[in-house]
Order: sequence, then structure tokens, then C-alpha cells
Amino acid sequence: MAALGDENITVILQEKLKIILEDKPIPKPGNNEVQIEMHSVGICGSDVHYWQKGSIGEFILKSPMQLGHESSGVISEIGANVKHLKIGDRVALEPTVPCGSCSFCRIGRYNLCPDVECHSTPPCDGSLARYIVYRADYCYKIPDNMSFEEGALCEPLSVGIYACRRGNVALGHKVLVTGAGPIGLVSMLTAKAMGASEVCITDISAERLEFAKKIGADHTLLIDTKDVDVLSKKVQTAFGAKPDVTIECSGAQSSVELGIYSTVNGGCIVLVGMGPDKVTIPLLYAACHEIDIKGTFRYSNTWPTAIRMISSGSVNVKPLVTHRFPIEDALVAFETARSGAGGAIKVIIDCFKN
Ligand SMILES: [Zn+2]
Ligand SMILES: [Zn+2]
Repeated sequence: MAALGDENITVILQEKLKIILEDKPIPKPGNNEVQIEMHSVGICGSDVHYWQKGSIGEFILKSPMQLGHESSGVISEIGANVKHLKIGDRVALEPTVPCGSCSFCRIGRYNLCPDVECHSTPPCDGSLARYIVYRADYCYKIPDNMSFEEGALCEPLSVGIYACRRGNVALGHKVLVTGAGPIGLVSMLTAKAMGASEVCITDISAERLEFAKKIGADHTLLIDTKDVDVLSKKVQTAFGAKPDVTIECSGAQSSVELGIYSTVNGGCIVLVGMGPDKVTIPLLYAACHEIDIKGTFRYSNTWPTAIRMISSGSVNVKPLVTHRFPIEDALVAFETARSGAGGAIKVIIDCFKN
């Protein structure tokens, strides 16, 4: 078998459970595009999910797709119409490009655009390659004091920023975050940066809670029983009151239930975690206590905020990166992200040629 060329190694999900590396021609940018020499790409839970299951909800893998959407790199070529970037600029990539003209796009809620293209969401290719081309206006220059890894982490951080905005997290709030995976952790960091006085984070893993505590959780709660009453009382004991906002990042039915019972009357629970299609929740309780249940879908208008938060030091996302692999070892990287071996939180793939 011929050895894999390495001009433009790309990581492709060929079909469910089958990731392959392929050397593709280096793509040329169109007029409104840039070519990017990719640097750091984080593996997202969704990438792992497509690999393992072949679909997420209505998005179904029907043909081979390049993976990856948490990315940063260096501009290596620019299209004729691109004015705000130049060759050599270091950029973070927002992985979704909406249509730009529908009613949602026009009011700035472009994450709700029905005509959006998103990196590594079928049928759209992602960013795991040595080189990609991408729409220039969804590439954001990052300052010199930010690393490429921090640039890539603007994507998960954006989920946290958007969730906290949806929940109207404000100065002095007590915030419950259910689930201490990467998205729970960035939601916690964002809530603190937005002025929350205390954050309590829950998980079924003591190891993850320990990690959360190390990077700033005020309280942690191990989910060691199915009894939501008991857990809800523990949340109140930890805070000395009911939290103002709950950010649900686990997708587990029991966490949604815990969030609803725990949140203060008139408060809000924001749904970020992706669980099963249909779950049983205490809807009447939520209604009678005026607990708003808010959905989230990706994010909008978060990249400039994410960059400023990281660059100014108001959040420190660096500790989230626990593992790094070169793109040639993408399969090991994905296996590490899947298994969580070695306390893996965020696994980064280095795409550049060494
Ligand atoms: Zn992601
Ligand atoms: Zn649109």
C-alpha cells in the first residue's frame, strides 16, 4: 500500500465507526474566501457522536465528511474581495455560515437560520486538515497574546457565552451547572466571568468534579443517587438558597428534572445538553413556579466576545486542554476523546506540518 502523502492530510469520517486519513489537493480560495493553514482543532463531543452513531437528531451522515469544527490557523492565501485579513494573520474560525438574508439572520439570531452551513455537521465538511478554504467573514483575527489552542477553544466557549446570555446570568447570581464535561466547564467559567457570585457544578464522575473545583467551581455535587429530592436539597444547602439560573449541560433527563426543582421561583433553566428526543419533565411544577425553560442552538455573535474574554484574562480556558496529538495520529486522538482515558477533557489535534 502506498504511504499516505502529507501535502494536505484530512481526517474523514467515511461511514459510522470508520475514520480515515486522506491526502487531498490543497484547495484554492474563492473571491470571498481565505485559505487557512490549520493549526489547532479540538475534538468535540459531536464529532465523536457522528463517528460512533452516524447521526445526531435530524443530521444524518449519508456520505463521507471531513470532521472538526473547533479551529484556528494562519491565513495562507486570500480571495480577491477579502479586505479585513491578510496572509499571516492568526485566526479563530466560527464554524457556521448562515444565509445572511432570512428574517433570523436579519435580526442577528443567525443560529436559527434554516439555511446554515456548519463545519462537521452532515453534509458539510469540517476543518480537520492541513489546509482548508473558508468564508473570510467568519474568520476572526486573534491577538498575539492568545495561543492557537485558545483560538480553537473560542468554539466551546461560545456555547457557554450563548447559554449564559440566554439565561441572563448577571452580577451576584447563583448558577447551577449540570454536567462537568467541556461545555459544563466553559459555562461555569463564563458564568463566573459574567458576575455570578457562586457556581455549583454536578456530575456523575468525582474525577470531573475535582477538575471543575480546580478551575473555579465554588461547589460540586456528585450525582450518586436517582433521588432528585435529595439532590435538590443538596444544591440548596451548597448555595444556602435556590440558584437563580440553571445551565443544563448533560442531556440527562434526571439533570433537567434536578434543574427545574432546584431553580428559584421565577428563575430560568437553559437547555444546552443534547439528550433523547423525548423526556419526562415536571412541567406543571415549572409552570406553577414560573421557571422559564429556554432552549439553545449553537450560538450567535459570540466570537468577538470569546476572543476578548480570553485575551483580557477574564476566562482561562487553557487548563481544559489535556491531550494533544499530531494529525497523523487522529485515530488515537479520537479514541482518547471517546474513552476519556487519562482524564481527557479537551483533546486537540495539531494540523500543521512539523
Ligand atoms: Zn464543538
Ligand atoms: Zn439566514
